[in-house]
Amino acid sequence: MSSLSSLSSSDSDEEDQSRSTKRRRTQETDEENAPKPTKKTRRTRTVEVHERKPEDFVVRASNTWKIGPHVSAAGGIENAIINAASVGANAFAIFLKSQRKWDSNALKDESIAKFKERMKTFGYSSTHILPHGSYLVNLGNPDREKRDKSYECFVDDLKRCEQLGLSLYNFHPGSTVGAGTLEKSLSLIADCINRAHEVTKNVTIVLENMACFPAGSGNVIGSRFSELGEIIRQVDDKRRVGVCLDTCHMYAAGYDITSRQGWQFEFDREIGIGYLRGMHLNDSKAALGSKKDRHETIGLGHLGLRTFVHILADPRTRDIPLILETPAYDVQTGSSAAARQRFATEGMGVWRTEVAVLNSLSGRGKDDGFVDVSEEELEERRKEIEEAVRTASKLRDAKGKKVDEGGKAKPKSKRKRAVEEDDNIHNGDEEDGDSCCESGH
Ligand SMILES: [Zn+2]
Ligand SMILES: [Zn+2]
Repeated sequence: MSSLSSLSSSDSDEEDQSRSTKRRRTQETDEENAPKPTKKTRRTRTVEVHERKPEDFVVRASNTWKIGPHVSAAGGIENAIINAASVGANAFAIFLKSQRKWDSNALKDESIAKFKERMKTFGYSSTHILPHGSYLVNLGNPDREKRDKSYECFVDDLKRCEQLGLSLYNFHPGSTVGAGTLEKSLSLIADCINRAHEVTKNVTIVLENMACFPAGSGNVIGSRFSELGEIIRQVDDKRRVGVCLDTCHMYAAGYDITSRQGWQFEFDREIGIGYLRGMHLNDSKAALGSKKDRHETIGLGHLGLRTFVHILADPRTRDIPLILETPAYDVQTGSSAAARQRFATEGMGVWRTEVAVLNSLSGRGKDDGFVDVSEEELEERRKEIEEAVRTASKLRDAKGKKVDEGGKAKPKSKRKRAVEEDDNIHNGDEEDGDSCCESGH
């Protein structure tokens, strides 16, 4: 169990690390003192950053509940591990390539090697890493050509998992795009999973539940447990298929998970609890049954901390990746090394606090079903998260916009936004807004 007091020591550790970062700067001396230049003077600046080690970061909680955010893999997939370690995560999610582009470069050999090396150095297990699939993929599309394109992108992701030694892969089931029946699309998705199983060896394919009903918005598949259950029934190799439950999506889809029995009974009846391979822990900005997919920081939305206490009191949520897709404050592409360091300590403080709070509230259920967490304790923890958000908000707002001295958000330039997407920055609130229900077409 991590203690929250370790947060301050981690911050100072990171500052020490920052100070110990070697910088070598060569530049021409002042023009007055310098010999008369014959060519144009040039300024070069080299920054050498040491390989980060586990001891540079907060001591990770020793906990059978494995909690951590969806982190950025900007600059190389191996950097995701550093980002996860810097917030004390025992689990994490990543995109394996740009989630909004069909074509991406192959993973570089040195990135793969470094990723594997860091997995070992930082003590992460592949069973606690839950990569997230491309938003473009729709295996339920009745249009053969479009489905084939999706399938190719999907299998490419699975092969990337295998290259990295990862064993789980989460994706959005898809959509009927209004061009066919739900039953037909469910079969098409199962068929794609069966084919993908044949061309891969070890990866377990994990279906994510969605926020919208097919009849309601965009024909999205997977908001009802029965739909996920039906896909799984049609998959041949049941050992390599599972479900990731997103708490925000469940709530938006109408499952009242604020009570202890809010999802488990129906999940077990329609799917089977044994298929639960991961969860996305997100609070919800939108109300129960709203069908709106709006992620909120843990404890600050309609679900509230109590909901997560119940989930983390259940032994069946142990030893699976429990991923935060809550708003991020870590956007850093294009910033200087010093600014990146600041975002890492202060901006990522929200995730660090959410992880620490959830760790401290996990495993509090008793054998008789009683959960030993008082309202006072919950309120105290909620305030810690709120404070972390306040601190981080001074640097950036949750959409990654720079905030100036007067606290007014400056919109990012178009170019900067494009760079961030290309660099595969995950903004943590992947489905914040209406986008989730529109994706997968
Ligand atoms: Zn998702
Ligand atoms: Zn999710």
